[in-house]
Amino acid sequence: MDLRSAVDAGWNRQLALLKELVRVPSTLGNELAAQELVAEELRSIGLQPQLWDVNPDVPGASPPLMGYAGRPNVTARLAGLGGGRSLTFNGHIDVVPATLEHRWSYDPWGAEIDGGRMYGRGAADMKAGVVAMLGAVRALSEAGLRGDVFVETVVEEECTGNGAAACRARCPRTDAALIPEPFNHAALEAQVGVLWARLTVHGKAAHAERADQAINAALAAMPVIERIKALEAEVNAEPRSRWFADHAHPFNYNVGVLQAGDWASSVPEECIVEVRLGVDVDADLDEVMSRFEAAVRVPVEWRGFRAHGFGLERSLPLFDVLGRAHALVHDDELEWLAFTGTTDARAFVVHEGVPATCYGPIGGNLHAPDEWVDLESVRATTLVLALAAAEWCA
Ligand SMILES: [Zn+2]
Repeated sequence: MDLRSAVDAGWNRQLALLKELVRVPSTLGNELAAQELVAEELRSIGLQPQLWDVNPDVPGASPPLMGYAGRPNVTARLAGLGGGRSLTFNGHIDVVPATLEHRWSYDPWGAEIDGGRMYGRGAADMKAGVVAMLGAVRALSEAGLRGDVFVETVVEEECTGNGAAACRARCPRTDAALIPEPFNHAALEAQVGVLWARLTVHGKAAHAERADQAINAALAAMPVIERIKALEAEVNAEPRSRWFADHAHPFNYNVGVLQAGDWASSVPEECIVEVRLGVDVDADLDEVMSRFEAAVRVPVEWRGFRAHGFGLERSLPLFDVLGRAHALVHDDELEWLAFTGTTDARAFVVHEGVPATCYGPIGGNLHAPDEWVDLESVRATTLVLALAAAEWCA
């Protein structure tokens, strides 16, 4: 059977798996059930998946937010006949929270299908990609490739990258890696670095009757946030690497969490401000951290992402192979993406020296209510991944 027929033959199974995966809320700390579904699917292809807990004490890891027991990565190998180039398919199983759930028009954990789209948290980012790469591996399992294909679904892509970092320390180094993030069939050629900062703004609590004599931490956080936004404007006005030179605003300093107070008649003692910083591909992270601390002038704890950016050359053989597969399916040239977020591709590119890119389905409302993925694009992605792997590992 040719790969196109094999992908078509497996499509209903893929769709059912995607529904099942979206219905399992694999938020931070709750990844096991979804990983077991992936392992079961790999077994049904005839592979022998391993589930193993992440060791965060490896190169490229970020300061952890929590422990790793019972939150495994899943890895498996489709053995080649010998001699060809090897490839890793990587996808993350974790999803961000769906709160506020009442702001959704669809059940965030319902995997509802409407107008060719599936809605749900993680439907696009990136359970559809995980299903696409599993479908590609199923189609390739009878293709008799010479090179090995490795599959890994990892935890914590959304906060530390420590799942992918732990794979680099444990799994064999392959000749390339593909990650089906939902980037609308464009190939990732660069991504920013990302840092997470947790700021504590102190106040002095009191009963509201004497609030005029207390220090309100929530209000004290306002000038701190203004200083963050001023630094962000300054950074975005500076010279940039060529990948982001023409971008309107590549380096977002996002105030993602703001927490203070517990009672309308109490003055808050403390305000927590959590910030995500995006930085250029070649930024020195220590310098960025020192500059940020000097600007905000309150205590900063660095936990979660400590992620370097990178930029790739379009002349990489991996892009040639991916471009040909894309052209076979879409009859069009590959488009390019310089991403103002981070992905697990850095674990390969920055920390292992392995060419890696993201290429995946069409989706929208990532990290927002009514996240969706275009189902036909998931099927097309499956075929592109299968064709690319078949040529790479031939
Ligand atoms: Zn993602």
